[in-house]
Amino acid sequence: MEFKVNKTAAEWKAILSPEAYHVLREKGTERAFTGTYTDTETPGEYHCGACDFPLFSSTQKYHSGCGWPSFWGELESSNILQVPDNKFGMRRTELICSNCGSHLGHIFNDGPPPSGKRYCINSVSLKFYPKKVK
Ligand code: FE
Repeated sequence: MEFKVNKTAAEWKAILSPEAYHVLREKGTERAFTGTYTDTETPGEYHCGACDFPLFSSTQKYHSGCGWPSFWGELESSNILQVPDNKFGMRRTELICSNCGSHLGHIFNDGPPPSGKRYCINSVSLKFYPKKVK
């Protein structure tokens, strides 16, 4: 797949922490209940942790109890791509940033209304911007 932001492994390693590199660029998963944003309720916007592309609003975040930041929707459906993932003998749908191709997490069908979706996202794949006070 071709992406607007294209960096070599060395270039990504230079700007990402080792953990962020592993999750974003090697499709890793942070351990449940260890991420920075799992319980965050602060109003604001969540961007891609690799390329800063806007992905989620805090208004789409909810407490799923699964141990990772969970959202029932996304800011723009064109900003996140869904890719079949059959690793580990499971049929899952992976979510990647459409701007840089980095791994974000997976999407499941056990979310709350209105979508019924659970976007299960690694904290380390996100960068949070608290809403500016107007
Ligand atoms: Fe990105």
